[in-house]
Amino acid sequence: MRTGRLLFLALAVVSCGMNAGRSREAYRETDYAKAPRFKALLYYDDSAEQAHVQFDHQAIAFFKGLTVGEGFLLDSTQNLASYTLEELKEYSVIVALNAQPSGEARKLFERYMEEGGGWLGFHASAYNDRHTDWPWFVKFMGGGVFKCNNWPPQPALVEIDNGNHPVTKNLPASYVAPASEFYQWVPEPRENPDVEVLLSLSPRNYPFGIKDVVYGGDFPVVWTNRNYRMVYINMGHGDRQFTDATEELMFINAFRWLLERDPASLF
Ligand code: ZN
Repeated sequence: MRTGRLLFLALAVVSCGMNAGRSREAYRETDYAKAPRFKALLYYDDSAEQAHVQFDHQAIAFFKGLTVGEGFLLDSTQNLASYTLEELKEYSVIVALNAQPSGEARKLFERYMEEGGGWLGFHASAYNDRHTDWPWFVKFMGGGVFKCNNWPPQPALVEIDNGNHPVTKNLPASYVAPASEFYQWVPEPRENPDVEVLLSLSPRNYPFGIKDVVYGGDFPVVWTNRNYRMVYINMGHGDRQFTDATEELMFINAFRWLLERDPASLF
């Protein structure tokens, strides 16, 4: 598989070197249409709480659906530690559905990200508190640790913070996101100048929740840390996340934005 990828990249380089415009066209018409453009790795934990595993299974089906036509190769794993750094670097993006690395895999993930890796993290993949004991990850997330959440899971009005960003492309200024558990963070990620908040839970939701109620405060739900090729999406709890075209478009936009900034992919 590695040989195939290298050969593919070599073709692209030759193509660009000959004549950027015309060769690229020719390449698109022949090999480009046939060969996978990149590899993505789904990372999840099937032993997590039921609602997070429900999301995993639906998300795996969703991302598999995006490979129709074999536009890219999709692998999945529950054990990042089984990869070497070089093997991990073959993936343009790691899509973390509900898990974050532990033990030895933390250093591996740090190096992968520090050396240009991509990360699309959903919901519980970013959960951290005073027991997590992983300062690098807190910094990577923009500095926030889990503060509180609504309960039970429910739909929420979300608002776009930057409508000109590729992740929010073609989304309405606000929409009702399907039922999920939403996490609020402290300190608020927006306070970090390296963070760009892309979507937030609207203050019009407050008081938000029935058993566990959030009464106010800044509530970003999708953001990027500009120092990394990463997007965090707070949605990802339960079996309602793939019931809404607007939300699915946001997921695809985020996935695509990470890929198009990977110099090794052919986007
Ligand atoms: Zn949850």
